[in-house]
Amino acid sequence: MSEIGFFEEGARLGVLTAEPVGHALDYLAPEGGCALGAFVEVPLGPRRVVGVVWGPGEGSFEAGRLRKVARVLDVPPMREELHSFLIRMADYTMTPLPAVLRLATRTPGLFDPPGTRKVYRLAGTPAGRETEARRKVIEALTTAPQSGYYLGELAALAGVTTQVIKGLVKAGGVSETEAARDLPYPHLDPERPGKTLSPDQRAAAEALRHSAGSGFGVTLLKGVTGSGKTEVYLEAVADCLRRGRQALVLLPEIALTGAFLARIEARFGARPGEWHSGATQGERRRLWRMVAEGGAEVVVGARSALFLPFRDLGLIVVDEEHDTSYKQEEGVIYNARDMAVLRASFAGAQVVLASATPSLETWVNAETGKYARVDLTSRFGASELPEMRPIDMRAEKTEAAHWISPTLSAEIARRLGTGEQSMLFINRRGYAPVTVCRACGHQIACPHCDARMVHHRSLERLVCHQCGESIPVPTVCPSCGVEGKLVPVGPGVERLAEEVRARFPDSRVAVLSSDLFGSARALKETIDAIAAGAADIVVGTQIVAKGHNFPHLTLVGVIDTDLGLQGSDLRASERTFQLVRQVAGRAGRAEKPGLALLQTYQPEHPVIRAILGGDEEAFWRAEAASRRAQGVPPFGRMAGIVLSGPELAPLFALGNDLARRVAPLDRIGARVFGPAPAPISKLRDRFRVRMLVMAEKSAPLQSALGAWLRQVRPDKNVRVAVDIDPQSFL
Ligand code: ADP
Ligand code: ZN
Repeated sequence: MSEIGFFEEGARLGVLTAEPVGHALDYLAPEGGCALGAFVEVPLGPRRVVGVVWGPGEGSFEAGRLRKVARVLDVPPMREELHSFLIRMADYTMTPLPAVLRLATRTPGLFDPPGTRKVYRLAGTPAGRETEARRKVIEALTTAPQSGYYLGELAALAGVTTQVIKGLVKAGGVSETEAARDLPYPHLDPERPGKTLSPDQRAAAEALRHSAGSGFGVTLLKGVTGSGKTEVYLEAVADCLRRGRQALVLLPEIALTGAFLARIEARFGARPGEWHSGATQGERRRLWRMVAEGGAEVVVGARSALFLPFRDLGLIVVDEEHDTSYKQEEGVIYNARDMAVLRASFAGAQVVLASATPSLETWVNAETGKYARVDLTSRFGASELPEMRPIDMRAEKTEAAHWISPTLSAEIARRLGTGEQSMLFINRRGYAPVTVCRACGHQIACPHCDARMVHHRSLERLVCHQCGESIPVPTVCPSCGVEGKLVPVGPGVERLAEEVRARFPDSRVAVLSSDLFGSARALKETIDAIAAGAADIVVGTQIVAKGHNFPHLTLVGVIDTDLGLQGSDLRASERTFQLVRQVAGRAGRAEKPGLALLQTYQPEHPVIRAILGGDEEAFWRAEAASRRAQGVPPFGRMAGIVLSGPELAPLFALGNDLARRVAPLDRIGARVFGPAPAPISKLRDRFRVRMLVMAEKSAPLQSALGAWLRQVRPDKNVRVAVDIDPQSFL
């Protein structure tokens, strides 16, 4: 396709848009012609829509009736690498191309004419006193690019308040002008001295550099919690910058971005671009364009950053690569970790997958030599990995409707007043998972879903965690009409916090749960305050497991260690192992040793023993062997099929029809299970039925699935969602 990189005026070409028309449509090149990959505006019916010049026209439509491309947009054309990646991703995830293209173009306002923003440059010698702060501003501007800096950026670079800059403008030292363009980001300097690496870290950074080389390759960076993986992979970023290429760092959680940007700034002298739902429209637009033009060297972002139009992507780091939030479960269903590897293969880039508890997929890929592997086996500096002990709940005298065992309670009490923090982890949001009527036994369920409603005391409502529906906490049972008999049953993070406050009334208690924070910023402020020592006891859900650094924390108590082991999910063991090891890893990250106590009713369970035993490799080996024996991922392939619609009967009819016409799947030796009601059998007033397809690892699964599904024509209101490599089976 590269031989025909340009279309002269009037030439026939195909334009792909994000509209659900399925494929590229033919148009004629506009006056002046246009390049392959160009972003263009084309007429579609009565509207104008944005699209990408995808290739030569397909040709069946009569040339005389073709319409012209209306306008070529002022951004660099999409590169071959991204183009091929999107096609391959659409194939792999069995998603229509337009929906995949939308991921790469959906930045709001992206193609609007640029607004203006104030830009600051060096002007002359300022009137008035020369203060230290002013000197810093002048110094920062001396090395500024031609285009200057935005106010906030300059203030951050110089380490002064915006007031100082405004003062310098008045004094004539700095000019303030309106710029009608998006500016490049400040340069990141790989040659600035970073932190002094420990010998282990240096060896790891060196090994990364070796396996890096040039071109495509994947490395698992496995380091225990607190080993300083970030410092090590920042050296890979530095290497990438030295080669003049761009780097992308994916983080699993927006709340971690702030701390991470500060670390990049400390290492490279300036802040990189940020890409996530919390960034403003203006910031995202600037980043999209600068990434394309080469004016952004590093991007830190959420999984959607994977679709940015990098000019020369040389490195993708996927931090906490095992994290389930990398899997997008709605719309286009994809795993950002796997797609990062795919994109890198087209871009000729390196991938670093960092984790203390890698996914079994990645661990196996490293075992078989498909990925390189670099290990960090000890914590940085004086800190040691926490000691881990079980608390056998069968032997503890815990009060009814209380969840903190006497043993755990005593360890918390010992730390009060010493400046050491304790953290209690429970994997349940809200106050109580179930509300039951004591008169008739009725459990309050969501009217739209097959799910019990979760009591949230902070909201004084019952909330459905599936669809978000909420109702005020009722006083009368909706089933039997008896008043005053509804009671919350079971623990949630809010209820646990209540127990902590009652038991330790003089302590400062902080609660960390995603529900309790309106914004990522509010959450981050609380996290910073905790890190600074503003709480004695932290009570939290999943979010406390994710990479936060609390130096005063020396005790971690896991309330419901067994919770994840109950399901029949293929990854139940793996998930529990990862989660509990990550949570435990929050303890003792500074000088004082840490202790992690796991409350469990089944201390002999092999997964609990593996967590406590600390022989991680043995755990992964055993887990891999069991999956291999069952022929399940990563040793076999799976696809989840979810049929959903307003009525149950047509879903089963369709499912049974599919289950009968299995010839296309038989041909590749794949097996079909179901149809069966999904574990969540109703969601948002739509019934859900699941099927599961399993095949051997080398089987051409997608093409067989395509042929299989094309045999049926579902009703208009029935949706068929295909989830390749499913992570959840709900
Ligand atoms: P991990 O991601 O492996 O859990 P981090 O990269 O967050 O670990 O490092 C843990 C802590 O140790 C951080 O506070 C970090 O700043 C510190 N640290 C790691 N390496 C160094 C180093 N070489 N010099 C100084 N501090 C370091
Ligand atoms: Zn619901």
